[in-house]
Amino acid sequence: MTDADTTAAAAADAATAPSATDAPVAVVTGASSGIGAAAARRLAAAGYHVVATARRKDRIEALAAEIEAAGHRATAHVLDVTDRAAVDAFAAGLDRFPAVNVLVNNAGGALGADPVATGDPDEWRRMYETNVIGTLHVTQALLPALTASGDGTVLVLSSTAGLATYEGGAGYVAAKHGAHVLAETLRLEIVGTPVRVIEIAPGMVKTEEFSTTRFHGDTEKAAKVYAGVAEPLTADDVADTIAWAVTRPSHVNIDLLVIRPRAQASNTKVHREL
Ligand code: NAP
Repeated sequence: MTDADTTAAAAADAATAPSATDAPVAVVTGASSGIGAAAARRLAAAGYHVVATARRKDRIEALAAEIEAAGHRATAHVLDVTDRAAVDAFAAGLDRFPAVNVLVNNAGGALGADPVATGDPDEWRRMYETNVIGTLHVTQALLPALTASGDGTVLVLSSTAGLATYEGGAGYVAAKHGAHVLAETLRLEIVGTPVRVIEIAPGMVKTEEFSTTRFHGDTEKAAKVYAGVAEPLTADDVADTIAWAVTRPSHVNIDLLVIRPRAQASNTKVHREL
C-alpha cells in the first residue's frame, strides 16, 4: 500500500467511524422525529457535536447525515431508553469523546386517551417505562461523565401534563409527573456538583407523530387535537427554547420553563376557531 493509499484508507475510516471531537457533546434521546430531531439540529448549529439516539436507525442516520452536510457535527446511535444494558453500553462507548456535556432526555410520548375507568394498564406501564424509567436509565448512566466534564447539563423534556391533569390524560399525566419529580429531586440531590438540571414543559406542540402514536395510528383523531388552533407550537419552537436554555452561562439554571402556544391558556382551555 502506498502512502497515498494509506491516507485515503484513513480518510475513509474517519468518514465512517464516529470521531472524537473537541466540540462539546450533547446527547439527545428520541431524536428520530419531532422535538428531538429539531433539538439535535439546533444544538448542532449551536456548536455541539450531537449524538442523536432513538430506536429507528434509518431516521437518526439520515438526521446525522443532514447535520453533517450542513457543516455541523453529529453521530447516530440506536438506543432504546428502556433497555438498561443497551443504555450502559452506549454510555461506556461515549468515552471516545473527551467529555459529555449535555443530555437532553426527550424520548417519550403518550399512549391512549382513555378515562381512568377504562384505561389500559399496559399502556400506563409503557408510558411510565419510556418517560420515567427511560429518563432514569440514561441520566444515571451519563451522570458520571456529565459531572466529570466539569460543566454538565441534564435537560428533562417533561410536559404541562407533568404539572396539571386533564380528563382522559391520566396515564400520560402520571408518567410526566414522574419525569417532573425526577428532575426536581435530582436538582436537589446534586446541587454543589457542576451539573445543572433543566426542565422544559411544553403544552400543545404539533409534531408529526405524537398524537398519531397516542391514538394508535388514527390520523383523524390525531388531527382533532389541533383542530381550529391557529398556531400550535412547532417542534422547532421547543427546540429553540431547549437550545436557549442549554446555552445560558453555566451558573444560570433554567429550573422549569413552561412553553405553550398563545391559543392555549391551560391544559383544558384552548382557543379554537372552528
Ligand atoms: P414524537 O415525534 O412522537 O417523538 C418521540 C420520540 O421518542 C421519537 O423520536 C421516538 O423514536 C422516541 N422514543 C419513543 N420511545 C422510545 C424508546 N423506548 N427509546 C428511545 N426513543 C424512544 O413526539 P414529540 O412531540 O416530538 O415528543 C417528544 C417529547 O416531548 C416526548 O417526551 C413528549 O412526551 C414530549 N412532549 C410532547 C408534546 C406534544 O404536544 N407533542 C407536548 C409536551 C411534551 P423511536 O420511535 O425511533 O425510538
